[in-house]
Amino acid sequence: EKGRWDTIWLAGLRDDEPDTLFNKILAGEIPASIVKEDGKILAFKDINPAAPAHVLVIPKDRDGLTRLSKSTPEHYEILGRLMVAAGEIAKDESLGFGDGARIVINDGAKAGQEVFHLHVHVLGGRDFNWPPG
Ligand code: 5GP
Repeated sequence: EKGRWDTIWLAGLRDDEPDTLFNKILAGEIPASIVKEDGKILAFKDINPAAPAHVLVIPKDRDGLTRLSKSTPEHYEILGRLMVAAGEIAKDESLGFGDGARIVINDGAKAGQEVFHLHVHVLGGRDFNWPPG
């Protein structure tokens, strides 16, 4: 466990870090394959896809949303935007999605969260098991 926490700390990805690598994607400093963008959200392909289609949807302004469980009623609007964008992506056949997708938010390191800038995983192009691993 210590090794994992050290890795997260060293990568500057603790949930109280001012920045994550998603800021570098937002700034264009790290290239990303962008699939959808508006003034409030950015969606881009996951660099290490866990399914044939795997897109991440993030708020452009993290605004305290290091993780979902930090959300408050102030975030109703942005959370709605993220969900609607995820739903639109989930039916986009040009991205490899078909009929059915798995929408995932990992909340906290214990759940597998590595980047502490809220993001919605949209996974598709294959069948999924339940319960998830
Ligand atoms: P988490 O584990 O925090 O829920 O998800 C973080 C996701 O970000 C992972 O699926 C990982 O593959 C993805 N990721 C990490 N670094 C990069 C990157 O530099 N570019 C892109 N496009 N995705 C990344």
